Order: sequence, then structure tokens, then C-alpha cells
Amino acid sequence: MSSPESPDPVEILRSVAQDVRDPLTGISVADSGMLSDMRMEDDVLCMRLSVTEDHREPMVRSLVNALGRAVTESGWNGPIECSVAPGVTSPPEAATPSAPAPGNAIPSTTAPPRPNPDAAARQPLPNNAPRADSHQPRPIPGVGHVLAVASGKGGVGKSTVAVQLAMALKDLGSRVGLLDLDFYGPSIPTMMGIRQKQTVSPQKRILPATAHGLACVSLGLMLDDGKPLVWRGGMIAKMVEQLLDDVDWGQLDYLVIDLPPGTGDAQLTLAQQARLSGSVVVSTPQSLALKDAERGLEMFRGLDVPVLGLVENMAWYPLPDGSRDYVFGQGGTVELAERSGVPVLARIPMDAALRLAGDQGDPGIARDGSAFEAFNQLAKAVVETLHPPA
Ligand code: ADP
Repeated sequence: MSSPESPDPVEILRSVAQDVRDPLTGISVADSGMLSDMRMEDDVLCMRLSVTEDHREPMVRSLVNALGRAVTESGWNGPIECSVAPGVTSPPEAATPSAPAPGNAIPSTTAPPRPNPDAAARQPLPNNAPRADSHQPRPIPGVGHVLAVASGKGGVGKSTVAVQLAMALKDLGSRVGLLDLDFYGPSIPTMMGIRQKQTVSPQKRILPATAHGLACVSLGLMLDDGKPLVWRGGMIAKMVEQLLDDVDWGQLDYLVIDLPPGTGDAQLTLAQQARLSGSVVVSTPQSLALKDAERGLEMFRGLDVPVLGLVENMAWYPLPDGSRDYVFGQGGTVELAERSGVPVLARIPMDAALRLAGDQGDPGIARDGSAFEAFNQLAKAVVETLHPPA
């Protein structure tokens, strides 16, 4: 309940709406005009979320939940009600709220949004946003499981985890590929020590380079060294599509995909075009990184991609006396995991051998370090999740 001393719940909502992003466009629900009719009615914080036909039901549910959680975390503990309506640009109409909900649960007052043939026409997506199209995510020929390795922020060790997860899956006896979709900083060629350019078959299909027993494809192997990358609207989506269609992977049990950080076009196109077995979200235990990781996690859920779990990287620094220095804090990853209902699949310590392995392009040398066991555990947890015992 609001009082003169407590902040205005509508203001809280306005403010947190800047941070809750529409997974289809990457634009906040505040800036995209999706959120309207924010008001207090009988001590209930009411709002209206307008969606298009491209917003699938789990996506809407995850957006509504993200809004509710953000408002609660920012200090409003009273009841909240969100009505969901098709058509982003429809002018705010007088809301027809249903009975206030107890506590701060958000009832979605209209059930899943009805498809609205007009909606997409009335609300064109920005030019640089790939459109959700009608075809379903499809398998990648020759590939058993496709795993996305994601992070909310750069520099948390996502590429390192992608490489070492792929290596550990290979050590379990699987055929594994590594696809580098980190367009803004493709580091797989460096980390895998690959120098030759990507080759193409007579059938004009991209042939993966083989390094350390992994089949590798990276944009970094297709571009001239040192040239800055400028990606204009739609280019990333097109490139992802091409890399999904035009690589001859042969036969793989697992394809590990290193995504760019954040929640952008690459993630969206990948989830829309390829049938993903799951995603692994990497974060350090630092609260700033975890906040962004949560956004990534919500995005995958909104896109119907199972989140297999979190990987806490740089979890601690092992001291010579056997004790641990929790450089980036402690406990936050478990809290996020519990709140989101996903497991922490592995906790990776800071390990000089791991850093050296990345710099020298020899992932094998990290196999003696303190992080080695954690990566084995991660690979086993992924395999067990995808192949639960009968
Ligand atoms: P991201 O893909 O998230 O940008 P990287 O995997 O490129 O992050 O890692 C950033 C830097 O941190 C690299 O130099 C990498 O070698 C190093 N690094 C990542 N994880 C660890 C770790 N657990 N211990 C030591 N160094 C690490």
C-alpha cells in the first residue's frame, strides 16, 4: 500500500519497465509502448501489456513475471494486476480489471493473447529486429543435440565455458562441434589455436576446421584479421541463418554454440530457426552480472528454449593454504537458481591454467588445472539432463 513516505508504485513500475525487455525486439517494454494504463485502483497496481501475434504464450508469461518480480524487488509488495491485450499500438483503453489478486501474484487477466491478424501490420518491428516467422525451429542436419552457451554480460567466461564444455563432452566419448556465433568478438579461433581460414566444399557448404578433436566453425575464420565488425540491421539474423543452413557438420552428438553476450538478434534468430536442446547461462557471482544473466535466462524461457542451468564461473580464487577467496562474492548464483527454478550445473574456480589455455590456443593444458573437475561435472550434468535415466 502506498503512503506519503513510500515511493509511488506507478513510478516504481515506470522505472523498472525500462529494464524489462521484449525478447522479440530487445527494446524495453517502456520504450516500445507495450506497457500502458499504469494506475492504482483500490490499492492494486494495474497495468496493461499489449502484445503482437508474434509473442508466444510462454514469452508473454515470462514478460509478465519479469515485470512483477522487478516491481516487487523495487519495493512494491501489494497486489499487482496485468491485463494482456493484443496490438501494441492500440490506444490505452479504460481497463477492465478483474478482482484484485492476493499478495503480489500477477494474474494475467486475459488468457493467452489471441492471434490478431492486424497486430503485426499496426506495429511494425524496428528495422533491425528479425521478425518471428511462421516456420518452426528445425533440427540441424547431422546434429543430435544443440546446446547454446549464453551470458548476460561480456567477460564472464562464456567462450571459455563453451570451449571446455565441448572438450569435456568429447572426453566422454561424444562427437562434438563448436559454433562461434559471438559476432562482436569471435574468440574461438584464438582459444582453439586455429589459424587457417574456413574452407568450402565443392557443393558450396562450409567445412568445419578440426582442432583438438572438435569440429569448429567461427565467423572469425571467415573475416580478414583486424577489420572492425560493423553489423547493420538484419545482418546478424541473416548470418545466423546461413551458418545454421550451410555448414556440413557430418555427424555430431552435440553442437555447442557460443553466443554473443546479452539478448539480441543472434539469440532470437537462433531460437527461432534451430531446435535447441537447451541453454546454459554463464555468470560470475557478482550481482551486476547475475542481474544480466537473469535477463538472458528469462529470454530463453520466453522463446521456449529449456534452460538446463547456470554455470558460476570465477566462483573463487584458490589460495595456497587450500582456502578460497570469493573475489566476486558468494551465494548470489544459488539464489538466482532457486528463484528461477534451475540448477547450478557447475561452479568453476579462477584458474591460471584456464586463462593460459585460452591465450595459447590449447584448451588441453587447462585439463590439469583446478577447474578441470568442474568442467567434467558440467558435461556429465548436461548429458544426464538430456538423457535422464529411464
Ligand atoms: P566471454 O566469452 O564471457 O567474453 P571469455 O571466455 O573470453 O569471456 O573470458 C574472458 C577472459 O577470462 C579470458 O581471458 C579467459 O581466459 C579468462 N577466464 C575465463 N574464465 C576463467 C577462469 N575460471 N579462470 C581464469 N581465467 C578465466
